[in-house]
This record gives sequence, structure tokens and C-alpha cells, in this order.
Amino acid sequence: MYREFMKAKNDFLQAAARTYESGIQTGTGGNLSVRIPGTDLMIVKPSGYSYGQCTEENLTITDFDGNLQEGTYKPTRESTLHGNLYKRYPNIGGIVHTHSPYAIQISLNFSELELVTMHSKLKLKHPVKVIDVTTQAVTEEELPKVFSVMDEDPSTSAFILKGHGIVAMASSAVKAGQIAELIEETAQIAWNQKMYQMK
Ligand SMILES: [Zn+2]
Repeated sequence: MYREFMKAKNDFLQAAARTYESGIQTGTGGNLSVRIPGTDLMIVKPSGYSYGQCTEENLTITDFDGNLQEGTYKPTRESTLHGNLYKRYPNIGGIVHTHSPYAIQISLNFSELELVTMHSKLKLKHPVKVIDVTTQAVTEEELPKVFSVMDEDPSTSAFILKGHGIVAMASSAVKAGQIAELIEETAQIAWNQKMYQMK
């Protein structure tokens, strides 16, 4: 249990630092989490802190319903989404959510992100679906929209919340962060390509 926790904690802190450095999430927006294997618990980003400010000191642990179990900080308001994804899909170990500009731009204009690059096709396999959720964080009521996209294609490793941002999932948070980076990079190329074609 202790080793599992240490592994999850290191994954969380490494993914937070790396995602912040990548620049796909600035300020205090976005959030990430990791499952603590063998438990119904997750480490989540505290609300109001940037990815770059995630440390051992503000480590925040909740159950899958977002109830604080360890720590003194307020868990991210997106805990409902994170917890429900862990509950329903046991293969997910880490989730990274970012408000990345090109992915948002694509989501405002298209129903999916086309995989325009060779490596996005290799890695993501199918276009990344856009899900229209109107609340500022995904609520219990909005979850069926997410589940229907996920259940339709079990290989789904990401989706984009319309006008809001990327949600990437993988066996670890570091891998989920890499998927989010790949999606933002692909969205930038896809958007520029569309603009170029319109000239
Ligand atoms: Zn968000």
C-alpha cells in the first residue's frame, strides 16, 4: 500500500511539473489526478493552485465522490469527473485536464479533432470527440454524455469539453499528460491547416 501510494504520488508530482513546463496549461486552471491503486482514493490538484505549485505539502486526497480524505486544501471542482472515470473504467490510472487554446478553438468549431499528423494517428487511432457540457465543471447530470463517448469506443484515451479543454486518460498521469500535449499539438496543426486552406 505504501509503495503504491509513493508511486502514485511521484506520478502525480511529475505529471503536474511536466504539464506546467509544457505550457499547455497556464495560471491556476486545469486539474489532474492519479488513482491510488488498490483503494477507492485519488490524489487531486487543490483548487486555486497551478500545476507548477503542486507539492508534497499541498497533496490532496479524496474518495471517488470528491470527499476530502487527507490534506487541508480544497479539492479541484472537477473531482466529480475524475472520480467517476476511475469508478467506471478500472484501467485508468491518471487523468490530466487542460484549458489548452488550440483544442478549445477546434472544439468551438468542430465536433471532433481530426488526426492530421502521422503520430497522432499512431497514438490516438480515432479522432478526438468534442463533448458539449455547459456547466463549468462536469456534474453528475452531465456524466452520461461523457460515458456515452467512452463506452462507444473502449480505446478512447481523451475527449475535448466544448469551449473548455482537453481531458486525457492513461495508465498514469505522466502518460495522460503526454496525450494532452499531443492533442494540443495536433489541434494547433489542424487549426492552422484549416486557416491555410481557407486562404
Ligand atoms: Zn476545466
